[in-house]
Amino acid sequence: MTAKNVSKWYGSFRVLTNVNLSVRKGERVVICGPSGSGKSTLIRCFNRLEAHQEGEITVNGVRLHNKMRNVTEVRKSVGMVFQNFNLFPHMTVLMNCMAGPMWIKGVPEAEARKTAMKFLERVRIPEQANKYPVQLSGGQQQRVAIARSLCMEPAVMLFDEPTSALDPEMVSEVLETMTSLAQDGMTMVCVTHEMGFARSVADRVIFMDAGQIVEEGAPNDFFANPQHPRTKLFLSQVL
Ligand code: ADP
Ligand code: MG
Repeated sequence: MTAKNVSKWYGSFRVLTNVNLSVRKGERVVICGPSGSGKSTLIRCFNRLEAHQEGEITVNGVRLHNKMRNVTEVRKSVGMVFQNFNLFPHMTVLMNCMAGPMWIKGVPEAEARKTAMKFLERVRIPEQANKYPVQLSGGQQQRVAIARSLCMEPAVMLFDEPTSALDPEMVSEVLETMTSLAQDGMTMVCVTHEMGFARSVADRVIFMDAGQIVEEGAPNDFFANPQHPRTKLFLSQVL
């Protein structure tokens, strides 16, 4: 997954400026930075929830551009987990996990059910399969959202502040799930302010400010020896 010199505008407001980011297979990248710095916009460009205007984004060998016919192909290979879970409220947990494979990939129902149960077990909530999202805690809902993404067997998982809408006591169960995915070799790009997670899981930490990548490095260097004043200021606020 590669972004080369990517820029994006919302109207006349330039939200991303010449962003360069390359994520290798199996790599774990954490993106941090102040609110409004363009983190969500950047990762949303990677699965074409947003369109960029300049530069080049390539995902699994497919170049994302305005004339592309099949955005679904890209979304199939890039899973996304949102801050607010975004589960389908009118479907059971099980159906939330079966819907994508059945309706987008054409997987037969029995197989979709089997895959859904496998991944609900993977996130350790198989017993919630027949409940509706509203009956679950925030941490459980977010684990369903992770399982739902995994059911599509994506090549890359994007996480957009997956723990910031959770009550504090539920943060760790979601971070543990993410850590275990990382240990399985999943390629992951995580926007998060959980610096403990970044330290223990990330291969690389990226700091964004005002639509630009200001600094990046291996977690040890990044936390011990931040170079840019804006990185130092940010770390002093979140650590
Ligand atoms: P972050 O995720 O780092 O908080 P965002 O990518 O959500 O930042 O937003 C970056 C900037 O773009 C912010 O100033 C935000 O207000 C603006 N923005 C985000 N989405 C839109 C949109 N759909 N239309 C106009 N401006 C937007
Ligand atoms: Mg955001």
